[in-house]
Amino acid sequence: MNCEICGKPIFGKPITIEVDGAYLKVCEECAKYGKIVNERKSGGIKESGFAKSSRNQVEDEYELIDGYGRIIKEMREKMNLTQEQLGRKIGIKPSLLAKIEQEKIIPDYPTLRKIEYSLKVKLRK
Ligand SMILES: [Zn+2]
Repeated sequence: MNCEICGKPIFGKPITIEVDGAYLKVCEECAKYGKIVNERKSGGIKESGFAKSSRNQVEDEYELIDGYGRIIKEMREKMNLTQEQLGRKIGIKPSLLAKIEQEKIIPDYPTLRKIEYSLKVKLRK
């Protein structure tokens, strides 16, 4: 299944959008070029909401709580995990995890979710 706009292969579920009355199956990137046609929720989608920005609103909007690095470190140590062990568990390098704990780097959304899940903490506001 390739995106009908950019032609790249679509991983996962294609998104159906409407462009000038035509329905296209497209990748996440190209979904912004049209109006997303229903899918997940049954009915009740407000068109105005989708017109603004259709692209992963949740991912763009997350904000980390203050002291997230310290909390990650504390929870990791509480669970007796080294940076290497936790890093391996969530699929990032220990050096990257160290930087996240020092709050030098803000983890991207998938990484953040994995950290939250592994340590059973909530790091977003
Ligand atoms: Zn595309």
